[in-house]
Amino acid sequence: AKGTGGNGWQWFDPAMDIAADDSARLAADLRTALRDDQFFLLFQPIVSLPTGAATGVEALLRWQHPERGLVPPDVFIPVAERIGVINELGSWVFARACRQSADWAARYGDTAPMRISVNVSARQLADPHFVDAVTATLRETGADTRHLLIEVTETAVLNAGIAIEQLHRLKALGLRIALDDFGTGHSSLSLLLTCPVDVLKVDKSFVSGETAGRAADIIVKNIIGFTRDFGIAAVAEGVETAEQAEHLHRVGYRLAQGYHFGRPMAAEAFENRYLDKPAE
Ligand code: C2E
Ligand code: CA
Ligand code: CA
Ligand code: CA
Repeated sequence: AKGTGGNGWQWFDPAMDIAADDSARLAADLRTALRDDQFFLLFQPIVSLPTGAATGVEALLRWQHPERGLVPPDVFIPVAERIGVINELGSWVFARACRQSADWAARYGDTAPMRISVNVSARQLADPHFVDAVTATLRETGADTRHLLIEVTETAVLNAGIAIEQLHRLKALGLRIALDDFGTGHSSLSLLLTCPVDVLKVDKSFVSGETAGRAADIIVKNIIGFTRDFGIAAVAEGVETAEQAEHLHRVGYRLAQGYHFGRPMAAEAFENRYLDKPAE
């Protein structure tokens, strides 16, 4: 961060220079990473309350950097957006999720809890070719749209004029739409009037962490009230303890996601834990 002295002077901060340089290097590495296949997906269960049975998974992107190790998406997604490789990266994520979905459908049938939620960034939603690319990938992979959800943030929807129209086109393809990080953006409620939202994901800051508390809980309770009236499903994110899970269930939540139920895990681990039937 930029240092400011007591007299309002801007100090030269060597850490800032390194950070800028680092970001440039990350940007260059991102292009290589796409070519060299350094990305992979983890899957975090989305579960029913109170049973904890999986109803689906969220696909979460990971970058295995050859020297830095695992780089978190919060670090590299903004860089990918800035240098314009997010569409390519996002296409890779969607294709990978579709292939996983087709694979699970073939091996576990239609009833298994393997609906996959895929995160889509603001820049992807603003790309007029996005829906055509999605359509092509669905055709190539043979994935069933009933097994796929698209997660978008309020900010992403509000930033692009064509975003809402694109969401309607995705809906027409049979995909379902989740509004992610709900409550952290703006105009949340009016979006529900124009967006074809199937699922609302209540941001983890209302559920756990430092800002969770009495006031956050009022919001959590009100969200479940109006989603029910709207006929929208609500998922509580960031559930870290049994107490939080019990409380959410008590106030009406039927879906949850968080470390308490399962961390993001490799496909194989998800299969072993949630899809493979125990031998009889
Ligand atoms: P998100 O979409 O809100 O994803 C949920 C994040 O919360 C994930 O972080 C997940 O690991 C974390 N999480 C899950 N349960 C808990 C919990 O109980 N407590 C806490 N504190 N955290 C929990 P992750 O995987 O590091 O991803 C961070 C963000 O990066 C995501 O937030 C999403 O915005 C973005 N992201 C991840 N994968 C993709 C992707 O494929 N495409 C795009 N565009 N963005 C992605
Ligand atoms: Ca998400
Ligand atoms: Ca979220
Ligand atoms: Ca297995």
